[in-house]
Amino acid sequence: MFGLMQDRPLLISGIMRHVARFHGSAEIVSRGVDGSLHRMDYATLDRRSRRLARVLQGLGVQTGERVATLAWNGYRHVELYYAVSGMGAVCHTVNPRLTPDDIAYIMNDAADGLLFTDTTFAPLVAAVAPLLGGALRAVVVMCARAEMPAMALPPGIALLCYEDLMDAADEEFDWPEFDERTAASLCYTSGTTGRPKGVLYSHRSTVLHSMAVNAAAVMGLKPGDRALPIVPMFHVNAWGMVYAAMASGASLIMPGRHLDGASVANLMNSEGVTFAAGVPTVWLALLQHLRTTGERLHTVKRLGIGGSACPPAMIDAFAREYGVIIEHAWGMTECSPVGTYNTHRVMDGETEAESLSRRSKQGQALFGIDIRITDDEGGALPHDGKTSGNLQMRGNWVCSGYYGQEPGSALDAEGWFTTGDVASIDPQGQMLITDRAKDVIKSGGEWISSIELENLALLHPDVAEAAVVAAEHPKWAERPILVVVAKQGHDIDPEAVIGVLRGRVANWWLPDAVIVDSDLPHTATGKVSKLRLRQKYRGYLVERGI
Ligand code: ADP
Repeated sequence: MFGLMQDRPLLISGIMRHVARFHGSAEIVSRGVDGSLHRMDYATLDRRSRRLARVLQGLGVQTGERVATLAWNGYRHVELYYAVSGMGAVCHTVNPRLTPDDIAYIMNDAADGLLFTDTTFAPLVAAVAPLLGGALRAVVVMCARAEMPAMALPPGIALLCYEDLMDAADEEFDWPEFDERTAASLCYTSGTTGRPKGVLYSHRSTVLHSMAVNAAAVMGLKPGDRALPIVPMFHVNAWGMVYAAMASGASLIMPGRHLDGASVANLMNSEGVTFAAGVPTVWLALLQHLRTTGERLHTVKRLGIGGSACPPAMIDAFAREYGVIIEHAWGMTECSPVGTYNTHRVMDGETEAESLSRRSKQGQALFGIDIRITDDEGGALPHDGKTSGNLQMRGNWVCSGYYGQEPGSALDAEGWFTTGDVASIDPQGQMLITDRAKDVIKSGGEWISSIELENLALLHPDVAEAAVVAAEHPKWAERPILVVVAKQGHDIDPEAVIGVLRGRVANWWLPDAVIVDSDLPHTATGKVSKLRLRQKYRGYLVERGI
C-alpha cells in the first residue's frame, strides 16, 4: 500500500492538551455568582479538568453516561465540558430558564446520572428533583464548602460539594484516546415546536465546528484575543466558543449570571475584551446602557450576533457611534450551532445603504456546511437574492437524527435537514432569513416578511423593540400587526411608526395595527416569543372589527 497521512482521532481533549502545552499562560477569567472575579491560567484549568475526571470516575460515571449541568458561564462549567467529554461521557447542558416541568422532561429523556449546578439554581433543583424518574444519583453544587446552599433532595439523590470532591481527588489522569464518533455533548432545542428534542454532538463534529468557527472568515480568534461568550454555555455550547477560543489560544472572559448592559460594559473594559458574541437583546441592552451613561468601549473590535435577526439599525449604531463591527451569524441547535457568518469586509464601489443591506444578511455558509432553499414540494429554488424558500442544510456538524431516534431520521431522501427557516440566497452566496416557517404571515395567500417589517420599525427613534405577528382576519385570513416597546422615557405615536414603513414596503405589507406594549415576551433562549405574542394578539383585529 502507499503511505498515507496519520489518522489521529478528533477529540475534545485534544483542544485542552493543545492549549495547556502551547498557551498555558493564557487565562480564563470568570465572574462569580457574587460578582467577584476569578482568574486561572489554562495550564491550571487542564490540571483541574483532569482532577475532575478523577472525581467523575470516583462517582461511577461510565462511558456514554449523561452528566447534566445547570450552570452559568464560568471556569467550573468549562472544567465539566472538558472532563465529562474528555473521559468519554456526555456533557448534557440544561437551560435553567426553562420551567421545572420542561427540565424534568429533558433530564428524564436523557436519563442523567449526575447533575452539577451553580448555587443560584438550588431552588430550581429542589423543584425538579422530585419529578425525576430515578436515574439521578447525586447533585453536585459547583462551589466551596462554605458556600453550600441548603437543599432538600428526595431519598437516593446525594448532595455533594464540588470543591470538597476536587480536594479529595488527584490529577493522575491521562486523556484517553477513543473513536472520534463517540458522543460528547447533548443539548435540547428549546421546544418552540412541541416537546424539546435532544441533539447529540460527537467529538468529531465538535472539533470540526471549532476549527471552522476559528477560520479568519468566521470568528477568527487568535492568541492575544480576549473572547467574551455572553451566549450561555447552557445553550448550544456557547456557540462553540469555549472550544474555539481555547483551540486558538485566545483567553476566555466568562460573565457568569451578570448579563445586563452595565455589567457587560464593565467586564469588557476592565478585562480588555476584543470579541464577544450574543443574541440581539443583549446588545440592545448594552447599546442603551452606553447611550444613557456616555460610557465607551475601549477594546472591543467586533461583536458576533445571532440567535435572532439583528436589526440593521443596531449594526449601524454600533459602527457609527462606537466603532464596533457587528458580524451577523445564523445557526441553530441542530447545527452545533454556527451555519453561516457575515464576515467583515469593505467592498469597492458599494454605497452606504448597499453596505448596510449586505452586512445585515446572515452571511455565507461556513466551509463544512452547504445550504439551499426549496419550494414546498422540495424542489431547489434559485439563489437569485429574490426568491424565498425553505432553508435546508447538510454538513459535518448537522444533526442526522434527534437523540434516541434513528440516524438519518431528521433528513430528507437526499440527506438535507430542513431548518424551519425561510430564506433567500443571493448570487454572492449571502443568505437572508426572512422568517421562520411557523411565524410566516400569509395575507391573501402571499407571504409578508415579519423580520423586514420589524427592522424598519426599529428605525423610528422612539422604538426599542418591535415584533410583527399574524392576527386573524375575516377577509385575508391573516394580517400583520406590529407590537412595539418604547425606549425608556419615550412615547410612541403609532401613526408615526407606520409613517416609517410607508413607501419602504408594498402597501399591503403595512400592519393593520400598531400596538404599544410595555414589554415583549421572550423565550428561554432570549428570543421574542412569537408564540406567546400570537396567543395574546391573535384575535386583536377581529375583536375590534379592524
Ligand atoms: P429555538 O428554535 O428552540 O430557539 P435555536 O436556538 O436552535 O432553538 O434557534 C435556532 C433558530 O433561531 C433558527 O432556526 C432561526 O429561526 C433563528 N435564528 C438564529 N440566528 C438567526 C439570525 N441571525 N437571524 C434570524 N434568525 C435566526
